[in-house]
Amino acid sequence: MEIIMIKLGGSVITEVDHPITPKISKIRELLREIKKSKRQNIIIGHGGGSFPHVPAHKYKIQEGLINSSSLFGTALTQKAASDLHSIIISEMLRLKMRAFSFSPSSSVVARGKRIMKWDVAPIKSALELGFVPVVYGDVAIDMKQGICITSTEEIFRYLSGKLKPWKIIIGTDVDGVFTSDPKASDGARLIKVITRDNLNKADFSNIRRKFDVTGSMRSKVLALYEMSRNSHAVCQIINANKRGRLYDAISGKKVMSTIIKG
Ligand code: ADP
Repeated sequence: MEIIMIKLGGSVITEVDHPITPKISKIRELLREIKKSKRQNIIIGHGGGSFPHVPAHKYKIQEGLINSSSLFGTALTQKAASDLHSIIISEMLRLKMRAFSFSPSSSVVARGKRIMKWDVAPIKSALELGFVPVVYGDVAIDMKQGICITSTEEIFRYLSGKLKPWKIIIGTDVDGVFTSDPKASDGARLIKVITRDNLNKADFSNIRRKFDVTGSMRSKVLALYEMSRNSHAVCQIINANKRGRLYDAISGKKVMSTIIKG
């Protein structure tokens, strides 16, 4: 089974500077591109953007159960992530896509923010039956710190080890990995290929967003590097804000991107 895993970045599908604001037309456009590709065996993952990031940041969920507000904060974060997820599923159904939702927080077990256990048999079966499994960045039970956030990248990292996809596409709001944050520096250059040799060359120091809780571009690069090593998948970071680019990437056309080879 030639599986493709596609991430729709939170920065693409929500207004990151406005809490709980989805970009509906962008969501529709990207889902249409996925549908138009007519590929089978697609797993969609999506980030949370401005939905869960605000409560996650406020209650410091990434640090675990740290005080008496942590449980309530976790509940708020889980709800916010699932609200955006529900919008994505509704939009898929509008397009008559056979979405099959998987909430990571219901069954993931993590330890120190890394997923340790997750029964992927239902996801595999859903694919075999012809569904489009949809996962998303969520909270999870953590054996070390009580609770944590599992980013879509972490979810893909775990799934890729089990399902061995042949391609992983991460759609975000920049053309790929640059020598430094392209939004903050004019001289930033796109790094077209990342291997072990230049893995640590890029500068990720700019913290652009008030509410980022999942580690931004650095965590994507490290997770993709590991995924590429574990599954030998083609790992690509593309700009999903550019119309048609996701479709081209799924179709195997050459697009502006960063390819990560473990
Ligand atoms: P998403 O919400 O799509 O998962 P993030 O906002 O977490 O994406 O990460 C993408 C952001 O990372 C870009 O918008 C960019 O501003 C920032 N960034 C920081 N350093 C870099 C870099 N070296 N190359 C590319 N982007 C970078």
